[in-house]
Amino acid sequence: MDDRTTPPGSLTPSLSESPVKSYGASGRGSASGSRTRVALACTDCDSRNYQTTRKVERQGQLALKKFCPSCNKHTVHKETK
Ligand SMILES: [Zn+2]
Repeated sequence: MDDRTTPPGSLTPSLSESPVKSYGASGRGSASGSRTRVALACTDCDSRNYQTTRKVERQGQLALKKFCPSCNKHTVHKETK
């Protein structure tokens, strides 16, 4: 058995650790670690109607079909800076 005695009034080391350690479970913060901010521009009229974030390591351009208020219809929006 262990023979060490705990001095009165001292916390055990395991209790001093912060219980809040769940990083990356739901990364919804605005911490731009590996994400970059891009704008989505309409390919018809070049209006930047949307803003989003994407992972830096992802290759290629994003192209999403979204509603453009200027064209008043759904058009393809591509990422721009
Ligand atoms: Zn448009």
